[in-house]
Amino acid sequence: MSTISRRQFLQGGTLLAGALALSACGGGSGAEGNSAESTDQAATNEGSTTQEAAGGLTTVEAGKLTCISNLFFPPFESMNESTGDPEGFDIDVSKSLAEHMGLEVNWLPSQDFDTLVPTIKNGGKADIAIAGMTITDKRKEEVDMSDPYVDSNQSLVVKLDSGETASSLDSKDKTIAVQAGTTGQDWANENLTSATIKPLSTIIEALNGVQTGLYNAVVCDLPVSRYQLKTYTDLEIVEEIPTGEQYGIAVSKDNPALLAAINKALADMKDDGSMAAIESEWFGSAL
Ligand code: GLN
Repeated sequence: MSTISRRQFLQGGTLLAGALALSACGGGSGAEGNSAESTDQAATNEGSTTQEAAGGLTTVEAGKLTCISNLFFPPFESMNESTGDPEGFDIDVSKSLAEHMGLEVNWLPSQDFDTLVPTIKNGGKADIAIAGMTITDKRKEEVDMSDPYVDSNQSLVVKLDSGETASSLDSKDKTIAVQAGTTGQDWANENLTSATIKPLSTIIEALNGVQTGLYNAVVCDLPVSRYQLKTYTDLEIVEEIPTGEQYGIAVSKDNPALLAAINKALADMKDDGSMAAIESEWFGSAL
């Protein structure tokens, strides 16, 4: 703790303000003043779009790989309980990607999964969305997706010993929780047509709701439900659904150089063993 008193602090502030006022009026020609102002202005404008780093990659902030995700999808991404920092498989992948590209990783706060693709498409806020995100044709209309880096499937999770099956759940008195905007929601909409599908903002909310009896089941990516069931011991996977999905990283269609650099970094990470190391860290073995 600093021992500076409030009074000293305020005085310091006054002195600083005075010094700034003096420097603003004193010396220098008007032209100099104007040029300083316009440089500041240019810097501000650049900050709201993209900047080119020494390596030639254009990113939202020069020298940084700015990442977004929904941080409620462990073990791919979550927030550390004590520090609140992002952690997980995708977080480690993002760090390694950045290192391989000569950039520093920069994580923005969590946002809803269904806002990730629009955010990348709109540009100016983040360079990539890395979020256990399945490569789909629909998403590829909006953004570019990197080469695949994880294989995944879906699963149906129910309360232990509930006796529910995929066919018993396809009934008008059943409610199925999903994460909004996901391939799990698409699967539920197409395959459980009689049930009520309830889109929620996180898969954790969905699992909690099955636990408390609010929902009859949740459709969830299999690697996530397998991981979560270690904690949710009163839930079970009643069906594994072989959708054959693959995760990719979303990049703006306006930044093909970044997409190419990410694909190159992913390939290098496979070759040099960094991807296998991250896989064993989070899944106990290479995937
Ligand atoms: N893989 C699924 C999808 O892309 C779920 C992703 C997620 O919930 N983070 O829709």
